[in-house]
Amino acid sequence: MNDVHIPTGPALRTRFAPSPTGLLHLGHACSALAGWSRARSAGGRFLLRLEDIDPGRCRPEWADAAIRDLRWLGLDWDGPVRVQSAHLAEYRRTLDSLGARGLLYPCFCSRADVLAAGSAPHRAPDGAALYPGTCRRLDPGLRAARLAAGEAHALRLDMAAACRVAGPLDRIEDGQGRTRCHPERFGDVVLARKEVPASYHLCVTHDDALAGITLVTRGVDLLPATDLHRLLQALMGWPAPAYAHHPLLHGPDGRRLAKRDGAASLAALRAQGLDPREVRAMAGCR
Ligand code: GLU
Repeated sequence: MNDVHIPTGPALRTRFAPSPTGLLHLGHACSALAGWSRARSAGGRFLLRLEDIDPGRCRPEWADAAIRDLRWLGLDWDGPVRVQSAHLAEYRRTLDSLGARGLLYPCFCSRADVLAAGSAPHRAPDGAALYPGTCRRLDPGLRAARLAAGEAHALRLDMAAACRVAGPLDRIEDGQGRTRCHPERFGDVVLARKEVPASYHLCVTHDDALAGITLVTRGVDLLPATDLHRLLQALMGWPAPAYAHHPLLHGPDGRRLAKRDGAASLAALRAQGLDPREVRAMAGCR
């Protein structure tokens, strides 16, 4: 379509945003290099962000290792590394803004409650069980009493209300043009978890907007989540970046590379004596 614009030149700002839940592997190298080489060849900017809001899964030593591995690969980035766990108050303000407009509600359900609510729960595009809406329908008095008692709760987006406010949305994908978004397929997503007042979807859209990211480069596994990210951007009045989702690397077993493939970690490859150029070639990137 004629009105589709993919940023390039100095207007291109992209990023690599790993979650330090383990050592970086070849798949991460591919993703980092996809963004870095695109930014550097265009004369744009490349930023690094550590998405470490999950205290149960992220460790500071893996964050340090990520930085070490990326430097070893030969990457550089513009400005300081953004570390999400240091910015929870900023995410809280976004939640407050959505909450003040009646777009959030507290959810007291456990994971088991959600699964038990339907024998074969419908799935969101990211594979998560669709929330049946139990706490959206809670009696207001009971809800207030449970909040007053300090009961642990997540905050969920009232998806129907959010979609009404935002209206129809499109996303722009490099090489594919404009596509209509269907965030409603995610149902009432969690935007603040019980154990941490934030979530991946909230933080990623907040931080991309804050950093002025104009082209989100990341793996195609995150393509479905883009519809939800477009919704949050629209609700918050944040600009819509363009997207370039790259294919994932696969291991010898044909499955996508994941942290379970310890042998493919960049640290392991380095320890085997490979040099960064060889590893970059293995990652399928220049
Ligand atoms: N932190 C996410 C991950 O490691 C990536 C987020 C993104 O690039 O949007 O899967």
